[in-house]
Amino acid sequence: MAGARAVEEILARGGAEQFSITMFGDEPYGNYNRIMLSHVLSGEESDADIFLNPLSWYQDNGITLHAGVRADRIDRFAKHVFSSDGRVTPYDTLIIATGSRSHLPPLDGLHTPGGSVKQGVFGFRTIDDTRKMAAHAQQEHHRYAVVIGGGLLGLEAAAGLRSFGLGVDVVHSGGHLMSAQMGPDGGAVLRRSVEALGIGVLTGCRTTAVLGRDRVTGVSLRGRPDIACDMVVVAAGIRPNVDLAVLSGLPVERAIVVDDSLRVQDEDDIYAVGECVQHRGEVYGLVAPLWEQAVVLANHVTGTDTGAAYLGSRTATKLKVAGVEVASMGLHGPELETDEHIVFSEPSRGVFKSIVVRDNKMVGATLLGDSRKVAYLTQAFDRGLPLPEERLGLMFDLGTPGEETGVAELDGEAQVCNCNGVSKKDLVGAVKSGCTSVSGAMDATRAGKGCGSCKLLVRQVVEWAADGAVEEDPAAGYYVPGIPLDKQALMAEVRARGLRSVSAVFQALAPGGAEDAKSKMGLASLLKMMLGGRYIDERDARFINDRVHANIQRDGTFSVVPQMKGGVTSVQQLRRIADVAEKHNVPLIKLTGGQRIDLLGIRKEDLPQVWADLDMPSGYAYGKSFRTVKTCVGKDFCRYGTGDSTKLGIEIESRFQGLEAPAKLKLAVSGCPRNCAESLVKDVGVVAVEGGRWEIYVGGAAGAHIRKGDLLATVDDPEEVKVLTGRFMQYYREQANWLERTYAFVPRVGIEHLRAVIVQDAEGIAGRLDEAVQASVDSYVDPWQERDDPRTPGQFRTSLPLTVLPQVPVR
Ligand SMILES: Cc1cc2nc3c(=O)[nH]c(=O)nc-3n(C[C@H](O)[C@H](O)[C@H](O)COP(=O)(O)OP(=O)(O)OC[C@H]3O[C@@H](n4cnc5c(N)ncnc54)[C@H](O)[C@@H]3O)c2cc1C
Ligand code: SF4
Repeated sequence: MAGARAVEEILARGGAEQFSITMFGDEPYGNYNRIMLSHVLSGEESDADIFLNPLSWYQDNGITLHAGVRADRIDRFAKHVFSSDGRVTPYDTLIIATGSRSHLPPLDGLHTPGGSVKQGVFGFRTIDDTRKMAAHAQQEHHRYAVVIGGGLLGLEAAAGLRSFGLGVDVVHSGGHLMSAQMGPDGGAVLRRSVEALGIGVLTGCRTTAVLGRDRVTGVSLRGRPDIACDMVVVAAGIRPNVDLAVLSGLPVERAIVVDDSLRVQDEDDIYAVGECVQHRGEVYGLVAPLWEQAVVLANHVTGTDTGAAYLGSRTATKLKVAGVEVASMGLHGPELETDEHIVFSEPSRGVFKSIVVRDNKMVGATLLGDSRKVAYLTQAFDRGLPLPEERLGLMFDLGTPGEETGVAELDGEAQVCNCNGVSKKDLVGAVKSGCTSVSGAMDATRAGKGCGSCKLLVRQVVEWAADGAVEEDPAAGYYVPGIPLDKQALMAEVRARGLRSVSAVFQALAPGGAEDAKSKMGLASLLKMMLGGRYIDERDARFINDRVHANIQRDGTFSVVPQMKGGVTSVQQLRRIADVAEKHNVPLIKLTGGQRIDLLGIRKEDLPQVWADLDMPSGYAYGKSFRTVKTCVGKDFCRYGTGDSTKLGIEIESRFQGLEAPAKLKLAVSGCPRNCAESLVKDVGVVAVEGGRWEIYVGGAAGAHIRKGDLLATVDDPEEVKVLTGRFMQYYREQANWLERTYAFVPRVGIEHLRAVIVQDAEGIAGRLDEAVQASVDSYVDPWQERDDPRTPGQFRTSLPLTVLPQVPVR
């Protein structure tokens, strides 16, 4: 479905002139509406009625269709596709849209000894599956079917088979039906409706084997009697079709990894779209996200809008399952103590409604049997529309807001830009701080910089807030955009007013006291630097990495890097890391560039346990803070070494661990000018030189920017290295712009100035800088201790689990 839709979008952008298009599909048809297969099974539709594009469409648009031909391999270098008919087809641009297939779990007896699927066992994915199921069900002597899986597909299959007069049991391992889409109460009401169709339901029940020698005769269940049956439909989930991509050397994790333009990671001319795609860690199993992907892909492939970006989808599902209307979005039930949960249940009519409200915003809804309010609720969910005070109005028509809610009435909290989470209040705040042009407000808030679908609304809000006026944005010199002060003035105000939290700063110093999401992280860092232990921590002011003390990865899992001071480890530490990696099935163990061991692929909810099992402090591989000191082996072992670099590196790391900074700080100590620890390209790099002396370099970098550090001082004593390193870092913390790395800061203020202030104490502030950094050192607490005491109930839970994702595969 996604492949043909992408081609439609490409044609709509004049693609027929740009490309000669060839399509391969291993099903022997053109494209059809897979969603309608349940209706074909139940006999409501014939399979001829579900084709989306007739064969003439391919001809009319000059598309060569190879139906029933499988693409076997791609030669990415020669740019050829090898297909099952022996053909070799060249391409300039390639789109992979191989979708998913039914997942057959490892059950005894599913296959014959010859390896083929046993007669009477079916998946439910294609026209052919559907036809075969219908034919099998209609055989005279076939009376009973078992469906494995009580999700959307399983229930659809069960209802279809029931319509052939078969007795049907659904066996579901979850505690209630459609457990991915709803909570147990909704599941109980759905169960009644399904049972009313004459379908048996067994929940919390696992199938262990399919019985019968050559053909199905029944199923075995764990802890319950066997069920005799003539056919088994396996609807236990889907798996992306990634064989083609894997064979062709493309990056595959849970599915084919693509970027925001739907381009396959690290490929120039290969795109992928649909269920075979993993985008920002998410794999989607419903069509709405695929349509959004197809639009972005077409914009890039045709060059119509090369800035287009797909940033993921929030899925609100509206379905008719086994004749029952089901709508589901966001949370199934309350998560926080403060969540409001409004529930209406009328099981005798098969009606169930559940709505979860957080901070006056709708964050989840389940509707069963009556989805009349679904349009309004979907909008409220997507756009954060104001909710009626009388919550019952969310469920029933009591004159509550319709779809057309004007800008003026829109609640301040209403989310205008979903992609970047910008509310009306944020935009109004930006306008009040001077961004009275639409683009200025967009720059300040990032509203409209995602999929772009909200741009009209952003314009309306800005125009309304600015009352038509348009001005140049004066915020360029502010430390953070939401507060009209430069860093020094801001720090002076914070000190003078005794402000200790981000919200207090907004209240006192932001125009109209307006909070600005974009300013929060910078302010939090500044306050923590200034106040150490007296800082009042507000978690919403942190980056996700800082909230959970781990580095979020492309696929939404986290990487855990325990502290390994100076890159030195021990047998005990290695053994513990190995044990933890084994216990938690860590998919990837990787040595970092900073001489530590990285455990990659940890789920958010597993972080506290992983830290507990490691029982080692955090290595700060995630923070805008002091991170690591790389060292060489130094004089004890190396025949060139003149200084004990390992010892000094460990001492520096012990002293400054976790120190908050405007950007990350990476350090190194080398035992001689051969510089094996690459000290010249570090934020602070130390090199032992002849005569037991040490050189200190600052402002080096070897990342996206490359810069050799400037020599700050040469000193006689390792203790002096520690003093000057701390003093430099404190000065940088106080003077640098938010997110300004030392490689930009040092040349900006000048090495002579830094030498004068830090080494010669020309401004008489050296003592104060030393004291300030000491105060921060004294207030250090290992953040991984939060494992025993989460700061918020949801700190280590995935937020809004809209789709249940399979695990990252173990490499
Ligand atoms: C019975 C049923 C009911 C559903 N109901 C709903 C619903 O109500 N709402 C909803 O949103 N979604 C529903 N879905 C899911 C929806 O159908 C899918 O999300 C959608 O079809 C995915 O589109 P796709 O293009 O990624 O994959 P597909 O539609 O599966 O297309 C991929 C095609 O690529 C082919 N292919 C694979 N490998 C190769 C190869 N190497 N060479 C050539 N061809 C290859 C496959 O055979 C397939 O024809 C339902 C699915 C089923 C099966
Ligand atoms: S930097 Fe010098 S002391 Fe350190 S490992 Fe290299 S050669 Fe040896």
